[in-house]
Amino acid sequence: MKTFPMFLTMAGRRVVIVGGGEQAAQKSRLILKTEAEIVVMAPALDEELSALAAAGKLRHDTSPITAAHFEDTALVFVASGCPGIDAAIHAIAKDAGATVNVVDQPALCDAITPSIVDRDPVVVAIGTEGTAPVLARQIKTQMEQALEPRLGDLAALAGRLRDAAAARLAPRARRDLWRWVFNAAPREAHARGAEREAASLIKNAIATGEIDAKGAGSVSLVGAGPGSKDLITLRGVQRLQEADVIFYDRLLEPEILELARRDAERVYVGKAPGCHSWPQEKITQTLISAAKRGQRVVRLKCGDPGVFGRGGEEARALKAHDIDVEIVPGVTAACAAAAAIGESLTDRDEVNTLVLTTGHLQDGYVVPEAVMNMRPGTCVALYMAVGAAADIGAQIEALYGVDQIEITAVAHAQRSSQKVVKSCVRQLSDDLESAGITDTAIVFLRWPDTKQIEQPVVPAAPKLTMVS
Ligand code: SAH
Repeated sequence: MKTFPMFLTMAGRRVVIVGGGEQAAQKSRLILKTEAEIVVMAPALDEELSALAAAGKLRHDTSPITAAHFEDTALVFVASGCPGIDAAIHAIAKDAGATVNVVDQPALCDAITPSIVDRDPVVVAIGTEGTAPVLARQIKTQMEQALEPRLGDLAALAGRLRDAAAARLAPRARRDLWRWVFNAAPREAHARGAEREAASLIKNAIATGEIDAKGAGSVSLVGAGPGSKDLITLRGVQRLQEADVIFYDRLLEPEILELARRDAERVYVGKAPGCHSWPQEKITQTLISAAKRGQRVVRLKCGDPGVFGRGGEEARALKAHDIDVEIVPGVTAACAAAAAIGESLTDRDEVNTLVLTTGHLQDGYVVPEAVMNMRPGTCVALYMAVGAAADIGAQIEALYGVDQIEITAVAHAQRSSQKVVKSCVRQLSDDLESAGITDTAIVFLRWPDTKQIEQPVVPAAPKLTMVS
């Protein structure tokens, strides 16, 4: 970072703006949001600044500028509109030790003003170090939409009640309280204008120590996607940040866990192929016990929890114990792998049937049924099928010949270790081996329905008429 974002203390401090025209007015508008005293130094002011001075919102100073004017200021804006004058005033302000911003002259700025989303006391500052103002505006627009207009008032109310909550509630209960305030009924009530209702909900929760979801533990089965940090959903990240304890699988890059709260407990329950470090029964029992202790539990699984993830079993067992279970979907490996090779899983012209299946059943590696029932227009995405590759290749050759079915294997899709291998029925097993693919791959079998493909109509080349 060439610049570092900080929030400057403004209450009771002085900000000097040099200039009396539009540029100075812009800076005044910005600083008027704060509790600073504003002094505008210029021989004359434009209409807007004059009106603000007349209304007592800022002080107009016409005296000759000296370093003394800039001493003990929070900020100085130099905005005379004339580069020569600006440079001279910059030098005087620097002599006085001020933090200076010279409008439109980044080289003369100690500080630059960010784009601001103002929900005072909640303030979001966005900066791109001058590289992409358009992007800053886009982000601002998104933030303006995401943060409801009244949010600042709710934050201020929370601020006023912090001491009361601290006096009555233990740290864990306080965290639960504020999470509930900003996630549930109080925020909803406040956002729809029912401020008194929101306040009494919060005060009541502080007084009684009881909130809607208090005490009850819960489990979220969260799909982490194919393993890279930026392919988990926003909801998944939110659950990670709320979790007291996270039980996670292998097949995840460790960076994903960085998205969790720092003090959340992390428990590795991963199963390497063939060696079950934690039997499924033990995992399920541990989830149940944690939730019964009142913990918010995240069971983080690769891909989607409901695709070869045993999410269904875990959810059923938890429900049988009356535990709240939520499933947060994730990007399943087949989608991640197809995207990684720039393909789509179905295709209007070539593939109208998509099968997700596995080459590994409880008893070991198998050729899945779907492989034996392919027809033109089918794409089969095989999970956990690397071990069965030789049998799958032989079966396909026996049923469909050598070149009917296109085969692509994608290992560690969307991760830094990704590998892609195009293969054919006779070579599948060998190709996987020589590429060093031993597990964690999707093997795509694709039988395009070429009958449906229409030849594209090539438009005639336009004739160019030479004009002499
Ligand atoms: N629930 C997961 C699948 C778990 S089964 C999902 O929805 O994706 C484990 C299998 O998923 C692996 O053997 C492999 O076939 C596949 N898999 C998981 N992550 C993968 C990745 N990043 N790239 C390719 N295949 C992956």
